[in-house]
Amino acid sequence: MTTHHILKQFFGYETFRPLQENIIDAVIEGKDSLVLMPTGGGKSLCYQVPALYFEGLTIVISPLIALMKDQVEALRGNGVKASFINSSLSQSEQDAVLWAAKLGELKLLYVAPEKLFAGNMLEFLKGIKLSLIAVDESHCISSWGHDFRPEYRQLSVLKDTFPEVPVIALTATADKVTRKDICRQLGIPEENTFISGFDRPNISLEVLPGRNRLKQIMDFLKTVPEQSGIIYCLSRNGTESLTASLIQNGYKADFYHAGLDSQRRSKVQEAFIKDDLQIIVATIAFGMGIDKSNVRWIIHYNLPGNVESFYQEIGRAGRDGTKARTALFYTYADIMTRKSMIEKSNLDDDQKELMNAKLDRMQQYAEANICRRRILLSYFNEEVGQDCGNCDVCLHPRERFDATILAQKALSGVARTGEKVAMGMLIDILRGSRNQNLLRLGYDKLTTFGIGKDLKYEEWADYLSQILNYGALDIAYDEGHVFKLNEVSWQLLKGKRKIELSHYITFEERKKAEEVFADPKKTKKEFIKNELFDKLKLLRKQIADSLGIPPYIVFNDATLLEMAHERPITKARLLNVSGVGEEKFRRYGDTFITEILSFVKGNSDQGVKLAKGLTYIETLDLYNEGLSVEEIAERRKLSRNTVYQHLIKLFEEGQGVDLWKFIDKKTYRKVVEAMETFEAEGTFSARAVYEHFREGISYEEIRIAMALSKKAKEEQADSY
Ligand code: ADP
Ligand code: ZN
Repeated sequence: MTTHHILKQFFGYETFRPLQENIIDAVIEGKDSLVLMPTGGGKSLCYQVPALYFEGLTIVISPLIALMKDQVEALRGNGVKASFINSSLSQSEQDAVLWAAKLGELKLLYVAPEKLFAGNMLEFLKGIKLSLIAVDESHCISSWGHDFRPEYRQLSVLKDTFPEVPVIALTATADKVTRKDICRQLGIPEENTFISGFDRPNISLEVLPGRNRLKQIMDFLKTVPEQSGIIYCLSRNGTESLTASLIQNGYKADFYHAGLDSQRRSKVQEAFIKDDLQIIVATIAFGMGIDKSNVRWIIHYNLPGNVESFYQEIGRAGRDGTKARTALFYTYADIMTRKSMIEKSNLDDDQKELMNAKLDRMQQYAEANICRRRILLSYFNEEVGQDCGNCDVCLHPRERFDATILAQKALSGVARTGEKVAMGMLIDILRGSRNQNLLRLGYDKLTTFGIGKDLKYEEWADYLSQILNYGALDIAYDEGHVFKLNEVSWQLLKGKRKIELSHYITFEERKKAEEVFADPKKTKKEFIKNELFDKLKLLRKQIADSLGIPPYIVFNDATLLEMAHERPITKARLLNVSGVGEEKFRRYGDTFITEILSFVKGNSDQGVKLAKGLTYIETLDLYNEGLSVEEIAERRKLSRNTVYQHLIKLFEEGQGVDLWKFIDKKTYRKVVEAMETFEAEGTFSARAVYEHFREGISYEEIRIAMALSKKAKEEQADSY
């Protein structure tokens, strides 16, 4: 079998993604290689396809137990013989797996690194035919990476132990130093490094002001109804209180953080994977070990500490390649919190400096006035040809204006109070509000009282955060968050410097932006598609529950969307849908076709052509009821000719039509002989055969004989 056959038959995909094919070719040639691809880029196929191509066993080293189970489940769902060995299995279960490997009953074996070096595992592996060693999350091998794992260190002996077996190392995050280190330790020539683009264009990017976060989250959630998502928070308490609010608002949510015992954690994770739980509110501890392909959105409630983590976390959305939405809440206060966390940590000074530098880059992202994707990708040293068109800056470029006078008003407000007020009070002073506290402190006597009446509270809040972000004002977090002036403030106040800010966007305007992400353009077609998509999702969930597996293992969202769009009602058409391979078809094909068919029939009055080939299926139904060609023609008000055409087509698609009912053996042989003669002369056509028999054999019979003989030839070819 070629690698393309493997791709289609087992995974149901038509084409490899860019680079996948090159990598697979290199592996098959026996080269050792390092693969860098973003999360969701399709790394797994890079070793799974060769594993199926090679004779013998591929071992996959992976540090994440939950992920192993998931991958093995997905592979089995595709009809691939796979298993895993890790500490979640009992000794006798492990023995059974090894026994199967020994007997050659496995193509892929996932192994936790500590298991690889325990007991006499290595000796055991020497005794069986290994075809490939894949090292997943290979950045864990390097202390330069951001997730060094000591148990990975030992992997460097692999090349000595199995010098003949090709190695493929994979990772989604590794800077240059880390890459070098991986290659050195695993004996991979550096020139065999494959780096794929880091862009994930299906993920939208958005930064929201960090005020009224709960309200904004509620608005956001309306744009992603019933879709799975993750909200990342900085603190454990934060996850718990936000979860409580979400539940109060009727959402199926739960929290997840490192303080929970492992039983509770796997319960939450399991519920999320099975679509029983819509929302997970988590600290960064969540997500490493899950492969759920239908996470449709991510919110960062707090600013992450660096771009790597941020990109990895939003990368958990939209792995199936279909649309996903992400949003980051940002205020300057988050930067200050992060900075003080770094300061208080017991890192050495160099590391603190590094962390601060990384935080700066995150801040630049959050405050960007240019395409945000450009900023992200440039962080990973990737050149970008054009603006992405799928971030809030691209979709709603904010106009900028000279805000020097506005800033002077605010800053002199701070100066007049003797640098003793925080945001709320300053705005009240500027807007001339007569609140008790303000009057008691006598701030209504200041010359700055009421000089900013023209702006609403929200506007001032927005501009003040921009001024802070610009660095023209400081906050003393240790003095009740009061504003302090700095050098830049004084330059502005003295008129020695100008400042530009972005125009405030009203709530309504932002809502409009949200609608762009939510894509409400609902044509009739779109509406029907969504309706069928919902039905198929429900069916998927039922099947998954009855089998005890996650829904996306049955089919992922991308596959269901394509089904909802194409509405295939024949085997051939369903097999054409990306993600439907032979095994998946065998397991679920009929069930899904039945569902689509009943939907199509139930909506035939919508005035939209709902299914290609529906007319064939209607003929097939009558044929299966035992009606003759004449009766079908009569019932369907079609010509006999057309009915024959349908039956031939159905026969070719393998729909169980018996064409021998319509032709006798003798006629068949006559036609085939004539065909062969004409073919040898190079003058074959149905018409030529028809005329040859002086119209003694009908056109239908000739076509039927042609179809039968073609099938016979194909079957003969297959059996070789
Ligand atoms: P990674 O391990 O790099 O995060 P995966 O291997 O899990 O990514 O692949 C992400 C998703 O993309 C999976 O749902 C996978 O089935 C799908 N995928 C991978 N390769 C292809 C392909 N050639 N065509 C279509 N879908 C693919
Ligand atoms: Zn953009």
